[in-house]
Amino acid sequence: MQPSPTSTARSFRELCAEHGLAATHQRQVLYEVMQAMPGHPSPEEVYARVKRRVPAISLATVYKNIHLFVETGVLKQLSMHHGSLRVEMNSVHHHHMVCSHCKAIADVEEKDLGTLPELNELPGGFQVERYSIDVIGICAACRKSAPRARRQKPS
Ligand SMILES: [Zn+2]
Ligand SMILES: [Zn+2]
Repeated sequence: MQPSPTSTARSFRELCAEHGLAATHQRQVLYEVMQAMPGHPSPEEVYARVKRRVPAISLATVYKNIHLFVETGVLKQLSMHHGSLRVEMNSVHHHHMVCSHCKAIADVEEKDLGTLPELNELPGGFQVERYSIDVIGICAACRKSAPRARRQKPS
């Protein structure tokens, strides 16, 4: 299936019908909130926003529905970063820069990573489909706020 850039503009009801998921009000709000959040929000961050519109919703329900979205295919991407689940709305293949200090995650395009190895098969007969790189480092904001602690040790 071809990923379509217009898929985000499609109505939530259509998307649910396509993937066999009941389009409840809670799910619609959850989906709309996630679409509006840039970057890689955690379920807790998504929950804080959804709660403003659906005060009765629980964090457990948010978790459950995010997983349901992924299982049914309504949501394409979900990534694990250092043990924390992040929602990923950018469906174009990309890599990540992860700040080891504040845990911020930013997308990085393949072209900015230089020449990457071409992998087809790995030991054990593992057939490679794609791979993603997590570049761990210190983000610009952290470098600015704690320059002495973050700068390389003097030799
Ligand atoms: Zn940082
Ligand atoms: Zn990303």
